Amino acid sequence: MASRTNGQSAQKAVRWEYAPAPEARQIVKLQPRYGLFINGEFVEPLSGQYFPTLNPANEEVLAEVAYAGAEDVDRAVRAARRAYEEVWSKLPGKERAKYLFRIARILQERSREFAVLESLDGGKPIRESRDVDIPLASAHFFYHAGWADKLEYAFAGRKPRPLGVAGQIIPWNFPLLMLAWKIAPALACGNTVVLKPAETTPLTALLMCEVFQQAELPPGVVNIITGDGQTGALLVQHPDVDKIAFTGSTEVGKKIQKAVAGTRKKLTLELGGKAANIIFEDADIDQAIEGIINGIYFNQGHVCCAGSRLLVQESIYPIVIRKLQRRIQLLRVGDPLDKNTDVGAINSLMQLRKIEHYVRIGLEEGAQVFQCECELPSKGYWFRPTVLTGVSMAHTVAREEIFGPVLAVLTFRTPDEAVEIANNTRYGLSAGVWTSKGSRYLAFASKLKAGVIWCNTYNKFDPASPFGGYKESGFGREGGVHGLRAYVALEGE
Ligand code: ADP
Repeated sequence: MASRTNGQSAQKAVRWEYAPAPEARQIVKLQPRYGLFINGEFVEPLSGQYFPTLNPANEEVLAEVAYAGAEDVDRAVRAARRAYEEVWSKLPGKERAKYLFRIARILQERSREFAVLESLDGGKPIRESRDVDIPLASAHFFYHAGWADKLEYAFAGRKPRPLGVAGQIIPWNFPLLMLAWKIAPALACGNTVVLKPAETTPLTALLMCEVFQQAELPPGVVNIITGDGQTGALLVQHPDVDKIAFTGSTEVGKKIQKAVAGTRKKLTLELGGKAANIIFEDADIDQAIEGIINGIYFNQGHVCCAGSRLLVQESIYPIVIRKLQRRIQLLRVGDPLDKNTDVGAINSLMQLRKIEHYVRIGLEEGAQVFQCECELPSKGYWFRPTVLTGVSMAHTVAREEIFGPVLAVLTFRTPDEAVEIANNTRYGLSAGVWTSKGSRYLAFASKLKAGVIWCNTYNKFDPASPFGGYKESGFGREGGVHGLRAYVALEGE
């Protein structure tokens, strides 16, 4: 795309060329076609329809997956209800825990296969899927396995009971990790599940069905149905679903909230974000630059909590920009399966167009654009890591979620001004603060309206630590004891 640099050409950085180091793809055995996973087995969809899922790095069709229509959704919900009533709700916690431990261990054993498939279907670098997504997914199952037989101690003397059938809808940015965030607490608390992965990244969820079979999870406890937004809407509307858990865009989250209003269904929403990464003049600047790069570029910016707004204290603005531009030139963009790759492919053509659209608006509104000059592969969906400077909160790119490797840089003079800018958004999912003063961090963090705040680090997750947002970033928490609360009713409720 056309770019205009801001004239501060980056000091030329020395870039070492490495030989290609691709992770072997053969470990993944793909079938040409996948059915729906209902009642413990793969079945043909009653809709009779299938749709392709692509590798966004080269546009190759990886497989066809079933499209779940109304009858299929109903069949999956009925299987989940039966499993809830006849088996899962009757099992003592310590028995449920055994299944969760088994799932966690099998996932760990098969982690390389899952990492390769996650990168193939989603476009994220293997380093991310291998070191972050898959280990965290199994950690979630381990963590929740530990809770399954201790739930009675989790809520200060109030006895919990499961809700019933949970309908869960997840996005494409962390396909397996979001599945783990949803399924592990639901099962630990005694619920059964119908989960719909995103249409562009269904394959690791389908591979997980093999893990459920290997773990001998009773049929119907987890059902995986593939499809698009319409399938998701059918699941939300199904009268026999007791709880909806959704992660995705704020736009769809609002539709879901309307659809469940006035019903008895419980709801948790984890929606968009426009996080501020705030860097004070007393911060270790090199450390902060690495954190900023990690916060926005290492996952193509496909992270709802991505540090997509950088707030820099004015006194250090020139040095921060110079270092940032230099670091960006060193990013390796390309084959997601290569172990040296930092930035992979954009997940879909639609998402690529959206990112291009926002950067164009940024230019039109007067921002200056600086991009990594790397060569991009000729096929597939790619976008250069980009920095937009000369941005204020009046700019669209500072307000709206872009969900791509695009950083909007703003400046501030005083801590109060930084708080004002950081909170001046309709979102409130996460924030980052870079300072060498602990007292400043503590004072500052309490003023930020964000569910998660990292200090001198970014994008760190732990199953014991609750994650979720304020304002239009949604409500409810996932992870930790707070996350369990979303899957139980307490005595008297
Ligand atoms: P993103 O912008 O991250 O793609 P979306 O909110 O569009 O997020 O999609 C997230 C998930 O929600 C996907 O699994 C998608 O199929 C599903 N979805 C889209 N529209 C609806 C809807 N109206 N009701 C329920 N689920 C939906």
